[in-house]
Amino acid sequence: MTMKIHTVAVIGSGTMGAGIAEVAASSGHPVLLFDIAADAVSRAIDGIQTRLSSRVARGKLSAESCAAILARLVPVTDIQALASADLVIEAASERLEVKKALFSQLAGICQPQTLLTSNTSSLSVTAIAADVPHPERVAGLHFFNPAPVMKLVEVVSGLATSPEVVNVLCTLAMNWGKQPVRCQSTPGFIVNRVARPFYSEAWRALEEQVASPEAIDAALREGAGFPMGPLELTDLIGQDVNFAVTCSVFNAFWQERRFLPSLYQQELVLAGRLGKKSGQGVYNWRGEKPSVQWLESVIGTAAALNTHTLSDGVTEIDEAVLIETQGETAQSLALRLNKPVVVVDRMERDVAVIAAAAGNPAAATQKVVQYLQQQGKRVLMIADYPGLLIWRTVAMIINESLDALQKGVASEEDIDTAMRLGVNYPCGPVAWGERLGWQRLLILLENLQRHYGEERYRPCSLLRQRALLESSYES
Ligand code: NAD
Repeated sequence: MTMKIHTVAVIGSGTMGAGIAEVAASSGHPVLLFDIAADAVSRAIDGIQTRLSSRVARGKLSAESCAAILARLVPVTDIQALASADLVIEAASERLEVKKALFSQLAGICQPQTLLTSNTSSLSVTAIAADVPHPERVAGLHFFNPAPVMKLVEVVSGLATSPEVVNVLCTLAMNWGKQPVRCQSTPGFIVNRVARPFYSEAWRALEEQVASPEAIDAALREGAGFPMGPLELTDLIGQDVNFAVTCSVFNAFWQERRFLPSLYQQELVLAGRLGKKSGQGVYNWRGEKPSVQWLESVIGTAAALNTHTLSDGVTEIDEAVLIETQGETAQSLALRLNKPVVVVDRMERDVAVIAAAAGNPAAATQKVVQYLQQQGKRVLMIADYPGLLIWRTVAMIINESLDALQKGVASEEDIDTAMRLGVNYPCGPVAWGERLGWQRLLILLENLQRHYGEERYRPCSLLRQRALLESSYES
C-alpha cells in the first residue's frame, strides 16, 4: 500500500474536480487533470487561475505561490498517463456505470497500491469498488462545494475499504487544511442524510399553508441560528439538485417515508423554477424578496399583565396560558385546559414563533404577544401547527442523527462535526439533543406521530434509550 502520496490525479474537471485539483496543488502535490470533454481541463485551469489571481490581488497569496500552484497542474489527455498517480480522486458524472467503468479502467492502468477514491455524493462506495482488484484501496472522498473553501471531507468506507487506507486519507485531508470525518457507505453518508429533515419539514409547513416561505425561513434562520432558511437555501442549491438528492436518498432507503420528497418541490422542478439560477424558485429572484410579517408591537397599548410561571415552559398571562410546544396544537391544549392557549416555539434567540388556539378571545392572545414583546422578542404568528417550526425541524434532524449513530454510520463526534462544517449548522445535532433533553424530544416526536398517524415522525430506538437513561439519572 502506498502510504506516501506525492502525485494526485483528478478525473473530471468540472465544478468539483477543479476545486479539488486546486486544493491538492495548493498543498504541494503535482496534479494530473483528466476529463473526457475536450476543453474541460483548460477551462478548469483557467478558473483556478482566475480564483488564485484574485487572491493575489487581495494580498492573500504571493505571486510566486500562485505561479507554483499553477505549475503543478498538469493537463492530461490520455488516461494512461495516470499510471504515475499515488492517489486518484474521481469527480466525474454522478452515474454508477460511469464510475464503475472508470475504476475498472484505472485498476488496469495504476499500480495495485494506488489509492482510488471517488467524490461521489450519493453512490455506494461498495458498488464502485466491487469489480476493482484490491478493493481495500477504494474509498469515498467527499468534498463539499466550493472545495477550496469548505473545510469538511467525508472519508467514506465501503465494505472492503481497509482502515489503513481511511487513516491515510484522513491524514492527507488534514494536511490539506481540511477536517475529515469517517463514515460508512450508506445513502447520503452523514450530511446529505441528516440534513434531509431541514428541507422536508419546511416543504411540509409550506404545503400545509402554515406560514409564508419568508416566515418559515426567518424562523429557522433568525430563530434557530441556521445560516440560511431551508427554502431560500434550496433556491440557492437549485431545486433540481436538491430534489434529486432527496429522491436519491428516499429511493436508496427503500422509500422510507421520512425521506418522502415534496410534491410542491417537484412542481417547482417541473415548471423550471429552479431557484436563483433560473430567476425564480420558491422566491422570485428578479424582484424584491417579500419582507417577514413580524407582529406589530403592542407594548404600551395595553394594561399591565399578571404573569406567573406554572412550570418549566408554561406561563400564565392573565386569563391565557403560554406553553412551549411539546408537539400538540394550541387548540388541543386549550380544550384540555379549558383556557385560551398560545404555543411558542423554541426560543433560542430574540424570536418567538407562536400559534394561538382558534377559540382564543383576541384580547387573550394579544396579551401573550405583549408579554413576549416585553421580553424583547420579535413575534411571528403562524397557523396552529404541532411542533411549530424550530422544535419540529430540530427534533427531526436530531432523530436522524441518532438513527445514523445507532446504525454505525459515523461516531457522535463526527456527525456533529460534519453538520457544523458541511452545512454550517449552529450546533452539532447530537450535542443539540443533549442540550434540549432527550425526554423532551421523545415526547415531541411521539405527539407528532400521534397527530399525523405517520411513520415519518417515529422516534428512533437510540433516542428512546437516551430518554430512558436521562429519566433514570433524574429519578
Ligand atoms: P460537473 O458536471 O461540473 O463535472 C463533471 C465532469 O466530469 C465534466 O467535466 C465531465 O466532462 C467529466 N466526465 C464525465 N464522465 C467522465 C469520464 N468518464 N471520464 C472523465 N471525465 C468525465 O459535476 P460536479 O458538480 O463537479 O460533480 C462531480 C462529482 O462530484 C459527482 O459525482 C457529484 O455527485 C460530486 N459532488 C458534487 C458536488 C457539487 O456541489 N457539485 C458536491 C460534492 C460532490
